[in-house]
Amino acid sequence: MTPLSPVDFLRRAGDVWPQAPAVSDVSGARLTYAELRGRADRLADAIRGAGVERGERVAVLAHNGHVLLESHFGVPGAGAVLVALNTRLGPDEYAYILEHSESRVLIVDPAHLPMIESILPALSTQPAIVLIGRDYESWLSGSSGPGMQPPDEENDLIAINYTSGTTGTPKGVMYTHRGAFLNALGDTLTFRLGPESVYLWTLPMFHCNGWCFTWAITAAGAHHVCLPRPEPAQVLAAIAEYRVTHLCGAPVVISSLATHPQAGQARFPWGVRAAVGGAPPAPQVIENAERMGMEILHLYGMTETYGPSLVCEPQGDWAAEPLRRRAELSARQGVRTAVVRQVRVVDPAGEDVPRDGATLGEIIVDSATVMAGYFRDEAATAESLRGGWLHTGDLAVMHADGYIEIRDRAKDIIISGGENISSVEVEHVLLDHPGVADAAVVAVPDERWGEVPVAFVTRAQGSEVSEEELIEHVRSRLARFKSPRRITFTDLPRTATGKVQKGVLRERGRSAHRD
Ligand code: ADP
Repeated sequence: MTPLSPVDFLRRAGDVWPQAPAVSDVSGARLTYAELRGRADRLADAIRGAGVERGERVAVLAHNGHVLLESHFGVPGAGAVLVALNTRLGPDEYAYILEHSESRVLIVDPAHLPMIESILPALSTQPAIVLIGRDYESWLSGSSGPGMQPPDEENDLIAINYTSGTTGTPKGVMYTHRGAFLNALGDTLTFRLGPESVYLWTLPMFHCNGWCFTWAITAAGAHHVCLPRPEPAQVLAAIAEYRVTHLCGAPVVISSLATHPQAGQARFPWGVRAAVGGAPPAPQVIENAERMGMEILHLYGMTETYGPSLVCEPQGDWAAEPLRRRAELSARQGVRTAVVRQVRVVDPAGEDVPRDGATLGEIIVDSATVMAGYFRDEAATAESLRGGWLHTGDLAVMHADGYIEIRDRAKDIIISGGENISSVEVEHVLLDHPGVADAAVVAVPDERWGEVPVAFVTRAQGSEVSEEELIEHVRSRLARFKSPRRITFTDLPRTATGKVQKGVLRERGRSAHRD
């Protein structure tokens, strides 16, 4: 049987649309599909030339741009596994991931080089450092060989994506060529992509490989337009300049556009589809987006499902509903995409909850687009995939029309601006401070970010450590967005068995955050 691989998407796009625009970086670079394919071919040769073997890892630390995009093809086209690193992490997190993934090569942009150089001496695995713009270009021009080759085995790994799970350390979610191929095609169908589409990269490509849109846009032969970060003025300008038709992001990305002073004049009469995920879009977001001429499509997924696995598929008769009702219907996470076999909402006994829009259960997923497991963590893999179903840790209800709606989360993570924060990870860092005896971190709702972390801390005896000092301490160790917005010094409420009552703290955090 012929193995499935997204590497073939770029080989085909290079054959079919050689002169069509493949990728434009707003900073300047523009490549046709023939050129993008050529660069990915040379990257594959360079990686093989560096002695990287089948299944070994190659990490990339870069903002959205053609280098990160071509890595999604060149790295797996050499039989290697891509580790696309979040650009907002701290030194300890990069050290952990590079070591855990045993990355042989790290392709890095100059802005991140000083941080990487500071952690290299302590690493037991020493990746070869390839600096983008300098070493990288000479590396590509000096390479020769057969170019990208799809794998012989479709279940070979294509990528490992590190995400903050419910434990203290990041977990490496393993993607296969087969799973990525299928989810990318699911994306093209769900989002109605074609060769005439122009896709603006407002979602980081390092986040679940851009929810597999790195591969999906290429499969469609559409035009990738890259922005290093989703800065609202630049996003609005890029939409107008390139006549963008599609973009994705957390709801905060869309609301920051709608509330930007320049949005007042922004109208996109050719129609822009914006897919949002990571949190449900508030009615206000939908209303504001529609005013600008954007149609919102609501997606749900997680790193463990290669990104999107549910879509709030709009039904024909919704269009006639008043805006408020439409917003309510669209805020639901929806139904499975074409590539997902089954999604259920089950009670603790594993029985489907009734379709009453009220009974809470956990969302579980059975799909060829569920991860192969967590890299080098069999216990966590077995727990997450028990009974052959991915357990999402998301609590939802099932509506009469078969649409799923999330109401709560059973897992201890905080989702801020679409990024996961493990409360345990932040607690460990707080506890590592000599002035801290006890610490708990919870999510509180936030209008802009969806949720933000706040901490409750018991000081060590005699300590007078301040809120500012502790926030600075967390910032020096972890990504800035993980640092608590507020720290309350208090004794922690515990259950009879000694477990921190996070529900109580969440309530307290909520009222304090409102004041
Ligand atoms: P994502 O890119 O979807 O944010 P993560 O793995 O970082 O992926 O986070 C996954 C979690 O985010 C889900 O388990 C769920 O709790 C939350 N999530 C994702 N999409 C939605 C959504 N549309 N509505 C509500 N919560 C969501």
